[in-house]
Amino acid sequence: MSISQTSILPRILLSPPHISGREQVYMEEAIHSGWIAPIGPQVDAFEREMAAYTGSKGALALSSGTAAIHLALRLAGVTQGDYVICSTLTFVASANPILYLGATPVFVDSEPETWNMCPLAFQRACQALNDKGLLPKAAVVVNLYGQSADMAPIVEIANRYGITLIEDAAESLGAFYQGKASGTWGQFGIYSFNGNKIITTSGGGMLVSDDTEALDQARFWSTQARDTAPHYQHSEMGYNYRLSNLLAAIGRGQLELLEERVERRRSIGRRYRERLGSIPGLHFMPEARNCRSTHWLSALTIDEEVAGFSSQQLLSCLEQHNIEARPVWKPLHLQPLFESSYYYPYSEEYSVSDKLFSTGVCLPSGSSLSDEDLERVVYAIETCNQYR
Ligand SMILES: *Cc1c(COP(=O)(O)O)cnc(C)c1O
Repeated sequence: MSISQTSILPRILLSPPHISGREQVYMEEAIHSGWIAPIGPQVDAFEREMAAYTGSKGALALSSGTAAIHLALRLAGVTQGDYVICSTLTFVASANPILYLGATPVFVDSEPETWNMCPLAFQRACQALNDKGLLPKAAVVVNLYGQSADMAPIVEIANRYGITLIEDAAESLGAFYQGKASGTWGQFGIYSFNGNKIITTSGGGMLVSDDTEALDQARFWSTQARDTAPHYQHSEMGYNYRLSNLLAAIGRGQLELLEERVERRRSIGRRYRERLGSIPGLHFMPEARNCRSTHWLSALTIDEEVAGFSSQQLLSCLEQHNIEARPVWKPLHLQPLFESSYYYPYSEEYSVSDKLFSTGVCLPSGSSLSDEDLERVVYAIETCNQYR
């Protein structure tokens, strides 16, 4: 196969939606019942099923994962002028809700073992902010690409400083850490059902917690904070954040196949490791002990001096083969939006997230990726190596 032959093959996407068939059954149920509204029986059922799957006492279905983070931060009491810790290596949606509340994010670096928040850097950030009299009310800890952060020490540190922990599990639904669902280690956990996530409602999110009173409060805020009165009366500021009954129907069909989706993404991850692991200079994202990662995205870093090509060169090789791949997230402390923020790196000399950003690539990982398409990706990477 030459590049000119391969470039006309259909495009391979990074993580497209994967429809199962059951979505339609629940959608028809919703349509026949007349519940074409935000809230309804499909929403109630989806919340119950998500709570059961994750082992949480309660769940609140919302219009996005970002909305769920926003409500969790408000539940944590975050207001104007507060500081909130956030993982730096993540999508901007983890931190934007901090700004919605007029608070200031403080970014913490990753560790090499999980690529997620480094417990030691977290501890340093808490102590340093405490010393300045700026102790944060909350921390948003992200579980990247389907893998849990090392939650046990993070929970311990957060408890010690009295910080409310919010787990951004948008990318890690289906992952388990020490046998407990990713997203259930903090006081609040959030999931996303955006189109690229492991299961999708086209757009949507979920807030989970064992604190059902807090969830009732968030439910109230999410429907415009209507007081109990026949007329429309409001004493608090609310939002229009509920999930539509139709989209919850899609979510239920998707959730039934979550375990299969995890298995497929994990097998894609294994296959990439088997096929590419021997290429010098390529290093896959490590799978941490005590964690079942979903391998939502299979990610690797490239040691340019050993491999003979850079991550940018690999991305353009893949593009020439009509394959969608992406660099690892640009860390938030490097974003123009957060230019003047505090940042606590892994160590004084070394920022892990900067290194992962400059050397990392995410490969096509969707559960609908066929074995043939996976071989196309492998071939593109092998030949990138060969013709450098
Ligand atoms: C997708 C994602 C979100 C946001 O979820 P939406 O449902 O798109 O609002 C938040 N955090 C991370 C890490 C994500 O990947």
